[in-house]
Amino acid sequence: MKKALITGITGQDGSYLAEFLLKKGYKVYGLTRRTSTVNNERIEHIQDQIELVQGDLLDQSSLLEAIRETEPDELYNLAAQSFVKTSWNQPVLTGEYTGLGVTRVLEALRSFNPKIKFYQASSSEMFGKVTETPQKENTRFYPRSPYGVAKVYGHYITVNYRESYGLFACSGILFNHESPRRGLEFVTKKISHAVARISLGKQDKLELGSLEPKRDWGFAGDYVEAMWLMLQQDEPDDYVIATGENHSVREFVEIAFNAVGIKDWEKHVVSNVGVHMRPAEVDYLIGDASKAKKVLGWEPKTSFKELVEMMVKEDLDREKRNER
Ligand code: NDP
Ligand code: GDP
Repeated sequence: MKKALITGITGQDGSYLAEFLLKKGYKVYGLTRRTSTVNNERIEHIQDQIELVQGDLLDQSSLLEAIRETEPDELYNLAAQSFVKTSWNQPVLTGEYTGLGVTRVLEALRSFNPKIKFYQASSSEMFGKVTETPQKENTRFYPRSPYGVAKVYGHYITVNYRESYGLFACSGILFNHESPRRGLEFVTKKISHAVARISLGKQDKLELGSLEPKRDWGFAGDYVEAMWLMLQQDEPDDYVIATGENHSVREFVEIAFNAVGIKDWEKHVVSNVGVHMRPAEVDYLIGDASKAKKVLGWEPKTSFKELVEMMVKEDLDREKRNER
């Protein structure tokens, strides 16, 4: 039985990846940090099938101990401070978790067993102010936030450890991916949650920033398969994972309101650009995943419309049950 250790297992991707690996017959371990209240909602339904070990990206010895305890064949490093906007409020912490944290994990892996295969969760935010369209593996990075900068560091340290020490280390450059388990601060989940509440009369307005930015949004459940596929190849490499389509925040809003039968959505939406302004914005991302398609045989399965409708439906069901 293969063993996998996932950092960030309590997050959106960690929960989908854990489900995916369990279905593949893996023994799944997850690294969790100590919190004052337990924070396992996303993995509650599989908690009896996985094993959690304590550790924190800031604490080198805890990472080594987690690897020693679990002896994984594959290590997926998904943990990070992952919200772009927060990265301006907490730039140093974001650098510590999202950047240097990767080196700590790699060092722990290398000193315990350099044969462990390693996946790093890199991001399309590394392309930031894009220098070519669509973005592919060799497109120049131009990050626009402390988060994006930290991810560039994480990407290059992964490449560097592969080249320096011959580690089987892969960097997946994933474009935005969403799901009903997305954190509420991200625009997609903020919209689906508000739309569900507005349709039930629990809320009247949805306040957003600019409706113009465009993202290449996919479904997280599809994207975790690509992470696994990268580690099943003969050689480690880096891959862009994206749908190849992009849509504006406005289109997301429109489809979400349509899903609950509200056509005159404009009367519910306030676009307060000033309040939600970021010090630097990323306006336009669209990925070219043709390498992943050719080498990994990976393709997204869920369309943009299906993704939006899935998120709204799930929030509607939860709101009807009065759950968050
Ligand atoms: P989430 O924010 O949902 O999850 C982040 C996870 O990291 C949580 O489990 C969190 O634990 C954990 N974590 C944060 N800080 C630490 C720490 N110091 N020590 C240990 N664990 C920590 O992110 P996603 O699941 O959406 O994303 C997964 C990864 O993919 C992240 O690295 C993200 O930056 C990257 N990524 C995501 C994209 C997306 O669109 N979703 C796009 C491209 C890259 P806790 O529950 O305790 O907070
Ligand atoms: P990001 O791509 O990782 O920054 O993901 P987000 O979901 O946080 O933001 C996607 C885009 O939506 C960015 O260009 C934001 O500026 C824009 N946006 C507009 N209104 C909002 C909002 O109210 N919240 C968030 N999070 N983003 C918003």
